[in-house]
Amino acid sequence: SAAPTVGPTDRSQALFERAREVTPGGVNSPVRAFNAVGGTPRFIASAQGAWLTDVDGNEYVDLIGSWGPMLLGHAHPEVVAAVQAAVARGTSYGTPTEGEVALVEEIIDRTPVEKVRLVSSGTEATMSAIRLARGFTGRDVVVKFSGCYHGHLDALLASAGSGLTTFSIPGTPGVPESSTALTLVLPYNDRAAVEAVFAEHGDRIACLITEAAPGNMGVVPPEPGFNAFLAETCRRHGALFISDEVMTGFRVSASGQWGTDGAVEGWRPDLTTFGKVMGGGLPAAAFGGRADVMSALAPDGPVYQAGTLSGNPIATAAGLTTLRLATPEVYDHLGAVADTIRSAVTDAFAAAGVPHVIQSTGSMFSVFLADEPVRDFAGASRTDTAAYGAFFHAMLDRGVHLPPSAFEAWFVSAAHDDRAVQTVLDALPAAADAAAVS
Ligand code: PMP
Repeated sequence: SAAPTVGPTDRSQALFERAREVTPGGVNSPVRAFNAVGGTPRFIASAQGAWLTDVDGNEYVDLIGSWGPMLLGHAHPEVVAAVQAAVARGTSYGTPTEGEVALVEEIIDRTPVEKVRLVSSGTEATMSAIRLARGFTGRDVVVKFSGCYHGHLDALLASAGSGLTTFSIPGTPGVPESSTALTLVLPYNDRAAVEAVFAEHGDRIACLITEAAPGNMGVVPPEPGFNAFLAETCRRHGALFISDEVMTGFRVSASGQWGTDGAVEGWRPDLTTFGKVMGGGLPAAAFGGRADVMSALAPDGPVYQAGTLSGNPIATAAGLTTLRLATPEVYDHLGAVADTIRSAVTDAFAAAGVPHVIQSTGSMFSVFLADEPVRDFAGASRTDTAAYGAFFHAMLDRGVHLPPSAFEAWFVSAAHDDRAVQTVLDALPAAADAAAVS
């Protein structure tokens, strides 16, 4: 099997040391620090198509895709041109622009939402959607699932309390107990748990928020009918159903996860959050949904929400161009690339005798080093993360940059061509062997 191809990484190491002097952990978002897999993160100097180039000149096939946004691959010429043209027209005005209207119309065309507000990050989108749900319903309690990540808003950085229907405790220092005291955290895919909390607290629940298909504990798809069940349970109790499509939106289908369940089964979330792909790699995100609910937002309604850079013209240009280029052919290509990589992963781990499970929604997938399918956070936590670290580094040494954590999805792009895919396939057998002996 393939020998390591990546050369020295001295410049990344020097930059990492320099970065750690001035920034906590040397990074501006924790998972980038390689804490879960060990070693030195690669400082990237440029990216093109499916490839990252680090500051030492090493090249890697990128399976992070900026954690989701890079659906078309890096530096797509039409996206670059749209961004350059936008920059030349000025970077921000603090007034409405035509680009915002066009981006919102494109989102509405693809998804079940009737009205949209643009923000700058996924965290802002979920935080705003929860405030709106509370303001609209006049209720305070929020239900979420363990292992679902919705950004770093205080109310959702919560861990389950001592019993199923008890309120949560802060998931991190810095979050006051009062911020999570109205949050209920449940095991994912567990209908009985959902029924129990709605039976006990139903008239106080403003909303239930879930990842449309969780990708932040690795990919853990909703069991068939689970999202429909959540939507219906919320409806019966007068709570709003918030589907977080920040990661899945415009990636797992032209609309997102909803295109694979709600559109087929005939239901809609009350509110949906978006991010990542719709910003084309620039800071843009959104929340939207029922017109009557969205109309409760200022200035139409009483619920306050705002942003200096919301609907920024450069981000809007990148996002709109990305969505317009995300044609059915692109989604077909993503699916084919994901299929090829998934079956090669299975072959390699089977040959190396490493128990593993691949879980997917659309082209988004992750590989659990486990004996049985993972249906919730407790299951994800039982997987072999040490073996993942060995696997990750063997892939990295052979020019494939996986996400540096066992609990993250692998992202492919429209630019993953035969050469990029072949590089992944060539690296897999040796990496699976490395996982076997770890
Ligand atoms: N929701 C989901 C489902 C996410 O995956 C993320 C980010 N990984 C967020 C929200 C938060 O988005 P951001 O990092 O842009 O704040």
